[in-house]
Amino acid sequence: MASVGSLTRQFSALEVSQKQNGAGPTHQKKPSQNNVSKLLTKFAAPNPFPTSSSAPSTAIPKSTSTSSLQSKSKQTSRPASPAKPAAQQTIDIGRYDGGFELDNESRGEKVYGQAAEDLALDSSVSRIRPTREWHLTDFDIGRPLGKGKFGRVYMVRTKCEPHYILALKCLYKSEIVQSRVEKQIRREIEIQQNLRHPHVLRLYGYFHDDKRIFLMLEFAGKGELYKQLVKLGCFTEKRSSRYIDQMADALHYLHSKHVIHRDIKPENLLLGINGELKIGDFGWSVHAPGNRRTTLCGTLDYLPPEMVEGRDHSEKVDYWALGVLTYEFICGAPPFEDKSGHNATYKRIAKVDLKIPSKVSPEARDLIIKLLQYEPEKRIPLTDVRRHPWIVKYRSKSSSGSGQTAP
Ligand code: ATP
Ligand code: MG
Repeated sequence: MASVGSLTRQFSALEVSQKQNGAGPTHQKKPSQNNVSKLLTKFAAPNPFPTSSSAPSTAIPKSTSTSSLQSKSKQTSRPASPAKPAAQQTIDIGRYDGGFELDNESRGEKVYGQAAEDLALDSSVSRIRPTREWHLTDFDIGRPLGKGKFGRVYMVRTKCEPHYILALKCLYKSEIVQSRVEKQIRREIEIQQNLRHPHVLRLYGYFHDDKRIFLMLEFAGKGELYKQLVKLGCFTEKRSSRYIDQMADALHYLHSKHVIHRDIKPENLLLGINGELKIGDFGWSVHAPGNRRTTLCGTLDYLPPEMVEGRDHSEKVDYWALGVLTYEFICGAPPFEDKSGHNATYKRIAKVDLKIPSKVSPEARDLIIKLLQYEPEKRIPLTDVRRHPWIVKYRSKSSSGSGQTAP
């Protein structure tokens, strides 16, 4: 179902990226890709990991490292705008197509009653982690990054110092209500705003107006991992191994916070400007301290036997999904996909009908088998995944330093 070749979503995604490529001015000399990466690494809103767990007082806390960056760049800034670090002005956020306003005229309605209360989402009054108040006018809006089910996503820069680069995602309240996902969206936002990890997309803040909710998300400079997978068909074992290492790191963190993701798949993963993986969608995740959940959710191909069979499930569902992901990265399609229909896929999952192609290395095969165990308790723990020979073999010194250190 989620096989690389079978989803039409890729076409709309490709269309967007082609339009974006053509939108920028061609006569200006742009910084090299390398320089852009460096600048974005500096000025994308900072990922505070591994700072202390105390609540920041603003959506985008000014860390010490940022202040030192500012003072450094002030020395090199032009006299006309001494307060603005020059480096940030060189990051091209692209041309805005007016999409927020266009959409707002033709799309969505005000919502009332309980739905309006449920969707009055504003990080400045959030009880858990209050932040400064934000409005759409606080941002310079740049190029479109994509369209989601409930609205558009744009690359933006905060007008206030130090002009952070973010992705601003808009959701139409009435469309959320129509799809009856008010509670799910609320939960997604509540969970994501409390997470801080280099491989988990950061939600810095959110605000709303009569018709819309806006999410201030960490900008994932290299876009969707899914698009890369579609383009290449599959990944090399080296690349797959590095992604799986980062995934295991992120999932271990989520589980330590009692968050079960439940919808791990390539479509929900984004890439940072240095190609690092970011889990970006928490629509199906649950905060389940000590709980066993029985709701059937997630994408068919990534469902574990216990969910297919309607049994209770735990965070071990994410271990299974990691096994499916490993297989799909290397082989280009999920392991239990069956073109003859959902029932056939369900049966293959329940039987763990796993056929690993001969091109897969013995080490990768070993890890896939250890993750795709019928019994949740028999699946290899995430800390052992990060110690597995197939992971250790390809881990570079720099990659192990980006997240929590490998055990
Ligand atoms: P859904 O509404 O079900 O989440 P979706 O994941 O396709 O659907 P969005 O999350 O709204 O939609 O994102 C739309 C597109 O915008 C994505 O496919 C991605 O290409 C781009 N995008 C979203 N968030 C970011 C981000 N933080 N950084 C860079 N690009 C992003
Ligand atoms: Mg999404």
